[in-house]
Amino acid sequence: SVKQQALHQELFFVPAMDAQLAQAYSLEQDLHRAINHQEFILNYQPKVDLHDGSVSSAESLIRWLHPTLGLVSPAKFIPIAESSGLILPITRWVLNEACMQAMHWQLEFSRPIKVAVNISGTHFQSGDILSDVQQALSNSGLAPHLLELEITENIMMDDFNAVLTTLEQLSELGVLLSIDDFGTGYSSLKYLQHLPVNRIKIDQSFVKNIINNAGNAVITKSVIAMSHQFGFSVVAEGVETSDELNFLLQIGCDTIQGYYFSKPLPVEKFDCLLASNRSLTLSSTAAQTSNK
Ligand code: C2E
Ligand code: MG
Ligand code: MG
Ligand code: MG
Repeated sequence: SVKQQALHQELFFVPAMDAQLAQAYSLEQDLHRAINHQEFILNYQPKVDLHDGSVSSAESLIRWLHPTLGLVSPAKFIPIAESSGLILPITRWVLNEACMQAMHWQLEFSRPIKVAVNISGTHFQSGDILSDVQQALSNSGLAPHLLELEITENIMMDDFNAVLTTLEQLSELGVLLSIDDFGTGYSSLKYLQHLPVNRIKIDQSFVKNIINNAGNAVITKSVIAMSHQFGFSVVAEGVETSDELNFLLQIGCDTIQGYYFSKPLPVEKFDCLLASNRSLTLSSTAAQTSNK
């Protein structure tokens, strides 16, 4: 844990490191309190279906409103939550909240909006992800096919067979599985064909500069082609410009997510987005190219 690291670090007195660890330790203490004091909220970022331009789903992204530090980014506190084990109760909260929200959208807007939840690899090792997902579904009444779990390829580095069994159970339950940040982890391509996943999310680092960076363009095109061969649909994350969008349309990407269409939104604003029925305008030439 961070505390053990801190104690260990005291033996080798390195002031800069000490300050960092002290901050992490204090955040860990604050995280305990945050769970009970409801300091977390979820934002939702729309994912847009490139076949018709409609908002088809929403990724839930956690936000921590710390009483004195203000907004703490998940990039900062999720790693601490993972090393301390606090990620388990946090993820249970996210799962419940997100499923109830998706149920609410379905009732209010009379159309199914999927919701995606990020699941840490540690939940597969030390938690009971299957039972936590079942709980959230039964608490909310949400249909399993409206819940999507985003996992990273790094979970395959652990006990592959154990992870595979759990993924198969989740898949049998009917929830959708996505590989997040695809292309940035350490897993081998040979695993891909055995995984019961539905979607591949191409990491935003490949989408960035896709127009000017020939290497990124090649990687993205190849990942799309390979994913379609395996029957996976492809989401590109971090789409910020119309040039990126048009390029992705031309190479057959299925779904986009990014600031170009919308940043992650507080729930009230996401409700407004759904109420307005805003969709992505696809230029007819580009849209035609994407129709396979
Ligand atoms: P992620 O799951 O890959 O989420 C995408 C991140 O990219 C989000 O950052 C999102 O706000 C950001 N993003 C989306 N579109 C754009 C864009 O066009 N440009 C740029 N520059 N960024 C964009 P965020 O919300 O700060 O989350 C960071 C990471 O923290 C997430 O990466 C995910 O790994 C983790 N995270 C967030 N919420 C949760 C959660 O509830 N549970 C767990 N375990 N991890 C979470
Ligand atoms: Mg994600
Ligand atoms: Mg990602
Ligand atoms: Mg990421």
